[in-house]
Amino acid sequence: MLPLSASQLLTLWERGLTQSPWQRALSLLAAALPDFTPDALANLPLGQRDAYLLTLREDLFGPRLTSVATCPSCGEGLELTFDVADIRAKSLPGTDGEQALDQTRTLSLSMDGYQVIFRLPNSLDLAELAGMRTPDRARLRLLERCLLTVKENGSARTAANLPDAVIDAIAGRMALADPQGDVQIALTCPNCTHQWQVVFDPISFIWIEINAWAQRILREVHLLACAYGWREADILGLSPSRRQAYLQMVMG
Ligand SMILES: [Zn+2]
Repeated sequence: MLPLSASQLLTLWERGLTQSPWQRALSLLAAALPDFTPDALANLPLGQRDAYLLTLREDLFGPRLTSVATCPSCGEGLELTFDVADIRAKSLPGTDGEQALDQTRTLSLSMDGYQVIFRLPNSLDLAELAGMRTPDRARLRLLERCLLTVKENGSARTAANLPDAVIDAIAGRMALADPQGDVQIALTCPNCTHQWQVVFDPISFIWIEINAWAQRILREVHLLACAYGWREADILGLSPSRRQAYLQMVMG
């Protein structure tokens, strides 16, 4: 993974202002992983995409993550601190024999007379689902896209024919095969001891950080440009420590 320069990151931030989260994720990864074609990145299973995003986040801002949450029971605010390593999926896809993806990255399931061959959700699926209003429709559409073959006792069926138990089993298989795609953090409220889980979504998290970083860096460019008359590109080209040293002199 290539380190992103301040100038690159600022350009990605500017482009990302009008992008949806899945587009932001792909833009960031395209810049950091130039060996991947846009198609290859878009086809990455979402958990694998998120694993790369976590690595990128670590390169940009370090391993420590800080976030806030509100207790749903008593409303107490919590500050959470954890490391990227804490939310990395323990098992990599394909290391468990039964769950291993085959060469074409497909999975199969036989259950209650149904035989299903399917693949893992990717960014193209998110793009297709973006305009859908109801979660139920989006869920069915995602299933339709990811199911490659559906049969009941040898006869062809569609996603809409599948019983809930089979759909749940498919979702379970997907989560096992692409574990980084569903990271939940267990929280306990220090005030009322209520326990609950929050979903960690890497791109939402990283985007908030990049946005805050961009606001800060633009202000630094503004101050240094006003003080010294330097061009934006030159100021962004300074190392962070040199930029801070000049800023301290300007701020006196
Ligand atoms: Zn509480």
